[in-house]
Amino acid sequence: MKSVRFWGTRGSLPVALTAPQIRERVVAAVRASRQLTLRTDADIDAFVDSLGFDLAGTFGGHTSCVQIDTGEPFHVICDLGSGLRPFGQAAMAKHGTAPQTYHVFMSHVHWDHIMGLPFFIPAYVPGNRIVVYGGHPDIEAALRRQMEPPSFPVPFDTFNANFEFVQLAPGMRQDVAGMSVTTLRQRHTGDSYGYRFEKAGRTVVYTTDSEHTLDNADEVRTFSAFFADADLVIFDAMYSLADAVSVKADWGHSSNIVGVELCQLANAAHLCLFHHEPASSDAVIAKVLHDTRRLEEITRTGRPLRISAAYDGLEIAL
Ligand SMILES: [Zn+2]
Ligand SMILES: [Zn+2]
Repeated sequence: MKSVRFWGTRGSLPVALTAPQIRERVVAAVRASRQLTLRTDADIDAFVDSLGFDLAGTFGGHTSCVQIDTGEPFHVICDLGSGLRPFGQAAMAKHGTAPQTYHVFMSHVHWDHIMGLPFFIPAYVPGNRIVVYGGHPDIEAALRRQMEPPSFPVPFDTFNANFEFVQLAPGMRQDVAGMSVTTLRQRHTGDSYGYRFEKAGRTVVYTTDSEHTLDNADEVRTFSAFFADADLVIFDAMYSLADAVSVKADWGHSSNIVGVELCQLANAAHLCLFHHEPASSDAVIAKVLHDTRRLEEITRTGRPLRISAAYDGLEIAL
């Protein structure tokens, strides 16, 4: 496995910056530059880099879609959220109509995880093959239903690509798409499934829309084994701990704090906070990232755990 690229990282609903928010950022950046002499492009780049990601960048806009580059000539993606649309555009730009195979691993079929499919251009290209894996038996029905009238003008059968659906057995390790894939059932309304992908000594865990209770010893054991020694854990950190233990308990999501604890127990190398709450501003997510890194430092007992917050366009080398 070579790398992981994030195409959609927001939970529940896509979000975009508004005109007033962008204006506020430009004003803040210009104000911060007032005392500086920015003569060269390199000076400008260095200044922009100094502004912080919550001012000069933005965390996830699209909903869940993550690509794993396994080094094989086929594509591997997790979930079909709205981030699938730019992924499809990039795939078309690179491969045109040359036949491609896409292996898709579905966490579950809540709308934010399937809404990108009707806009996935490669699905309309004859000769393409799309293999959809998941723990749920009804994934095909859910994908068809979202394109039925009166909700969508183009029915599923308009796709020219050849679709296959493969149900994976939870708790099992199977050879799929050139990898060893372990599927784990997670606590979420209607269930969700996490995946542990292993290939050539590298391990990536994709675990989203999953609620954890750390006072359940069996569950902690199950998940720390699932995350064990992973190079990267892509983790549902939709809520802060305060949210997770109070009003939003039982809403089917998890927090940055739980992510740190499970990754530390599992001796994982890198925790990537994912499925950001749509109401969280970039400043809030940047603060969560900062606080999470601080928490990791003060609770560290084993090897350091690297922590990132996912954003659309982030690429992590494995
Ligand atoms: Zn979701
Ligand atoms: Zn969900």
